[in-house]
Amino acid sequence: MSAPVIELRGVVREYGHPPVRALDGVDLGIARGELVAVVGPSGSGKSTLLNLMGTLDRPSSGQAVIDGVDVATLSDDELSALRAHRIGFVFQQFHLTEGIPAVDAVADGLLYTGVPQAERRRRALGALERVGLAGRARHRPHQLSGGERQRVAIARAVVGNPSVLLADEPTGNLDSVNGAAILGLLLDLNEAGTTVVVITHDPKLAATLPRQVALKDGRICPEDLPAGVPAGGLAGRPASGRAGSGGGAG
Ligand code: ADP
Ligand code: MG
Repeated sequence: MSAPVIELRGVVREYGHPPVRALDGVDLGIARGELVAVVGPSGSGKSTLLNLMGTLDRPSSGQAVIDGVDVATLSDDELSALRAHRIGFVFQQFHLTEGIPAVDAVADGLLYTGVPQAERRRRALGALERVGLAGRARHRPHQLSGGERQRVAIARAVVGNPSVLLADEPTGNLDSVNGAAILGLLLDLNEAGTTVVVITHDPKLAATLPRQVALKDGRICPEDLPAGVPAGGLAGRPASGRAGSGGGAG
């Protein structure tokens, strides 16, 4: 059985003086191949958790082990390399640069991986095809709908075949039809083997996913987990082993 792809142990993250605890002792294991919703109200620590899972940030105390590597043992450069090779990010605001064609935006997802330019473009076209945008490769952001822009952002996130795809409110700027399509795409990517963590403040959306991690005031709420499962879930268990309490095909 493989080690968890994300393992947080007693993670605390504080900001400012006097310190505010955004995360207050989080233990969480995510197995390879899982599809997990992180749910909680605004300010509960969801984005802070995503940043830590994605090595964009380090714990104030406690341990974050990402794809087998303790982030505390790496320099900033080594962390950037880990991130470039193993983690894909999708954000609510798409983060596409105006004027840049989709294929180039996606190819930029491989900038720090040492892949030569022609190969970057070839793979970018493949990733656009995966998200259903093969016909939009030369389009610039203003020529794309919100849903299409988010597809480009997802293609950029997965073009390097990351171990983990982290999505922070990926449907937050979309109408329900486009939001459902983006969620469907994340499900497809998970089916194809990518570990996916979706952050959302929408409990209904979270309930459609096989596992939910509920945050409140920087802590994982044990009462929101199915009976018999410890807070943070079971590190290292098989991804297909269980459907969450709110799961099941709708
Ligand atoms: P969520 O994504 O669930 O809305 P966040 O992780 O963004 O929650 O924030 C959790 C808490 O940490 C909030 O109280 C927020 O104000 C605080 N916080 C987040 N980022 C910072 C920061 N860079 N500096 C100071 N406080 C922050
Ligand atoms: Mg947030």
